[in-house]
Amino acid sequence: MTDSYPVLLVEDDPVSRRILENILIKEGFDVTTVENGRIAMELFRNRFFPIVLTDWLMPEMEGPELCKAIRNENPEGYVYIVLLTSKDAKADIIAGLESGADDYLTKPANRDELVARIKNGLRILELEKSLKKANEEIRILSITDPLTGAYNRGYLNERLPQEIKRSTRYRHPLSLILSDIDHFKKVNDRFGHLAGDHVLKEFVQCLVESIRNQIDWAARYGGEEFLVVLPETDFKGAMLLAERLRKACSQRIINTHEKQITITASFGVTGFTSEMPGGDISVETLLQQSDTCLYQAKNQGRNRVVGQPL
Ligand code: GH3
Ligand code: MG
Ligand code: MG
Ligand code: MG
Repeated sequence: MTDSYPVLLVEDDPVSRRILENILIKEGFDVTTVENGRIAMELFRNRFFPIVLTDWLMPEMEGPELCKAIRNENPEGYVYIVLLTSKDAKADIIAGLESGADDYLTKPANRDELVARIKNGLRILELEKSLKKANEEIRILSITDPLTGAYNRGYLNERLPQEIKRSTRYRHPLSLILSDIDHFKKVNDRFGHLAGDHVLKEFVQCLVESIRNQIDWAARYGGEEFLVVLPETDFKGAMLLAERLRKACSQRIINTHEKQITITASFGVTGFTSEMPGGDISVETLLQQSDTCLYQAKNQGRNRVVGQPL
């Protein structure tokens, strides 16, 4: 439990420093040692330490001041701070805790007590870790379409305006591909709703496999309509990609319980490039344009790509 935790040990007295350092190293901590609060704080700004064990009286910056500075820094995670003190008057202890320390130890520190108090901190850090993990899982669930794994409409509504803003501000291109499976009702009618669900999953898989990881993203726009958002891709590039998507999806053999199914889809493409005047490009304008193109692709016989830049 202790090995992955970096500890910042702050102590001006070389002898105590050595002793404390040895205890912590023996316990398996990754220990970094400095001699006063100022140096500790400089280091802390560049590297996160979840555990800080600090002396009280030190030149340049004392323990309680360091506690306050760490709390004010708003670090990336919780920092468990143990204050070492030769002061054990009630008022001092209260002042130490009020400065932001989680716990204190009176000097000379007893090895077992020191280890026990730091392990106490580890319980809090472990709890924080599991809360963060749970939060992240909830966050991912809240932005994901449960059937297909694509982003959901809520995420699209939040992220697309940001992408447009960023692209217009820096005059970078941005394109959209709106896709809709052809005659999907017939898939449901002929093979059943479950097979239809499976086809939707495979369709998204096909889209996602062909776009750039981390940059491009796909969201479920409606029942069997999916929007692919392509930051840094101009209209011409988007047209080429859409054609590739069309081909890939039409060639994919989808295995369901009963049968192997193939489907086709239609694609509406739009986008703006860096040469176009920035100005106000709204989500609605972009979506409407891609929707108009998709409608034309359907009208022209489906299984095709139609595009129109903004
Ligand atoms: P078109 O080529 O004109 O797009 O024809 P289409 O049959 O695909 O037409 P439409 O877009 O009107 O039909 C979409 C169908 O998708 C209707 C709906 O029942 C089905 N659908 C929507 N969501 C789901 C889903 O989550 N699972 C399944 N199995 N079907 C769905
Ligand atoms: Mg000291
Ligand atoms: Mg359809
Ligand atoms: Mg549709």
